Amino acid sequence: MPEQWWRFDCGCKNRTQWLRQAVCPECGAHGQYVGWQLTLEEKMAAFTRVTGLPATGRARMTPEGKAIQDRRVLCKLCMGKGLIEDPLDRDTWGYCPQCEGNRCALDGDFFSEEVKGALDEPMPGVSDEETGWSPDRGTEDWRGGGS
Ligand SMILES: [Zn+2]
Ligand SMILES: [Zn+2]
Repeated sequence: MPEQWWRFDCGCKNRTQWLRQAVCPECGAHGQYVGWQLTLEEKMAAFTRVTGLPATGRARMTPEGKAIQDRRVLCKLCMGKGLIEDPLDRDTWGYCPQCEGNRCALDGDFFSEEVKGALDEPMPGVSDEETGWSPDRGTEDWRGGGS
């Protein structure tokens, strides 16, 4: 099940942090609510559903695997989140009806050429810590200007 995330610019750890809790455990600062995100496991499952590739291991790094990944097109409805939220009710979410939680599809199954290649986040199987991945990296759009 997806999880709620908060962003912290309080300076603890000397960098921006994303946590699954509203209050910084170090200094007690309140974070900025980011929203719901699929768990890493759910992202990995979605990756496999779309590409047919295992989410971990070397298969996805082969030329064939990369060629498949290059065909992915980001879902514009959820901006690759895989889920949608009720802007009026923070606790309400649902899997994206367009991509059904898969976040993207191959060969523009549902969207135009222009977003091809937009999915640039590191693939699951690499820990968030190693890649510097964060829930709202490169997805400013889905916040819709609200903050
Ligand atoms: Zn802090
Ligand atoms: Zn979607």
